[in-house]
Amino acid sequence: MSGALAELYQQLIIEHSRSPRNQRAVAGANRTAEGINPLCGDQITLQLRVEGDRVADVGFEGSGCAISKASASLMTGAVLGKTLAEADALFEQFHQMVTSRADAPVSDAALGKLAALAGVRAFPARVKCASLAWHTLHAALAGGGAVSTESATE
Ligand code: ZN
Repeated sequence: MSGALAELYQQLIIEHSRSPRNQRAVAGANRTAEGINPLCGDQITLQLRVEGDRVADVGFEGSGCAISKASASLMTGAVLGKTLAEADALFEQFHQMVTSRADAPVSDAALGKLAALAGVRAFPARVKCASLAWHTLHAALAGGGAVSTESATE
């Protein structure tokens, strides 16, 4: 990754952590899950309103570090309006990205802005901050409940 691109990604993460998108309750939510990352203290409650096979609305509440907040903001923006299959595919792609080797190429064609979080690969403790929102999404789409990064299989 070039220095300029890394800088751009850094800015995107800072911006999303300061002004998270979709940080709100969802009216008429019909899927919900809670996620915690005990190692960092990140906590997220995710709500979705699924209509047909589409994510009609999605929002999160909670508290946590800059990475977890930026990731939740980027995640909700990425899955809003997507079909459940597309959202699940994004979960898989994101998970693959953050658990790959730090020097593995990142397909930002598939991941878009989510590629900004590829930098966490160099910091194993941060990977859980970045993937918390996605594990919570996965749980919500699978029927709800609670997830912890300490019981999730990385
Ligand atoms: Zn964190």
